[in-house]
Amino acid sequence: MTSAEESLAPHGPAPGDRGRAWYRGDCHVHSTASSGGELSPRQLAADARAAGLDFLAVTEHNTAGTHGAWAAHTAEGPLVVLGQEATTRTGHWLALGIPPGHVVDWEYGVRDGVIGRHLDEVHRAGGLCVAAHPHAPYPSGTFMYPFEGFDLVEVWNGPWRSDVPWQADNEAALAEWGRGPAADLRRGRWRPAIGSSDTHLPGQLALPHTVVLADGLRTGALLAALRAGRSWIAGSTGTGLSLTAAAGHRTAGIGDRLATGGATVTVRAEVRGVPSGVLSLHTERGRAHTVPLPGSGTGTVEWETGAADAGFVRAEVRASDGGMAALSNPIVLSA
Ligand SMILES: [Zn+2]
Ligand SMILES: [Zn+2]
Repeated sequence: MTSAEESLAPHGPAPGDRGRAWYRGDCHVHSTASSGGELSPRQLAADARAAGLDFLAVTEHNTAGTHGAWAAHTAEGPLVVLGQEATTRTGHWLALGIPPGHVVDWEYGVRDGVIGRHLDEVHRAGGLCVAAHPHAPYPSGTFMYPFEGFDLVEVWNGPWRSDVPWQADNEAALAEWGRGPAADLRRGRWRPAIGSSDTHLPGQLALPHTVVLADGLRTGALLAALRAGRSWIAGSTGTGLSLTAAAGHRTAGIGDRLATGGATVTVRAEVRGVPSGVLSLHTERGRAHTVPLPGSGTGTVEWETGAADAGFVRAEVRASDGGMAALSNPIVLSA
């Protein structure tokens, strides 16, 4: 156990720990301790249970002041990952999985050249660093740091809408991140995507959230799964997505690498909860395969490719109005 884990699970397994399983969590949540926040930890914990979330990360603006407030309200879940949002002068970032009371500095901008030192500090404490809402359209919200040194990119922040001027520009964030796997894979790594609600007000929690394949409902296991990209983003808790790739007798899931041995790769995606939506599979050649979903919202798609044509494959599911309903991290394909 890391120290952060120990502090959160002093009395054995968290409620809802199902061993290696998919867990739903919201990695960017504010309480009344953040400007604009209207919900107490007690209310947020109750809302998370009602929504069916297994975990949430508390990410107040520039304070660890509420780290100690959650234990009294989460005996029946959710698991709370301690974090912070650092609202720097030139972009916001999240520290996830920091020790209780740990405060990350935020009083700098990209020209100060100090961001690397602060990321190192979080990594040394066992945490992850997330580039938050990189194309948020308000002053200081737009992310000006290189992604280098960050573990994750929050490509989906709040409702997926382009008609609300103050809303994070998720389409731009996805377009920027979507180029990443192709380029980064040459260096042997890529930077996974997450999605979170950035909840400040009632009714925002879990819209969207990240669904993670972790070895257990523990901070350390969740962070490891997020870092590895064994995750997809759900627009709501009613949405389901699975993605696998198989070559010969080998099968890989989201975040895995599939050694194809030159064999044909069968990609299989299953969706539920997206009536009359559209499922698309993306590779470094862009949108490679598109299938409409029926009115029931449930569908299964199989598509064949090979490592020569696709170094990775990932899935997007659009709702009938064009907004995103679900989005997966890639499966990496190698010869
Ligand atoms: Zn922010
Ligand atoms: Zn925030």
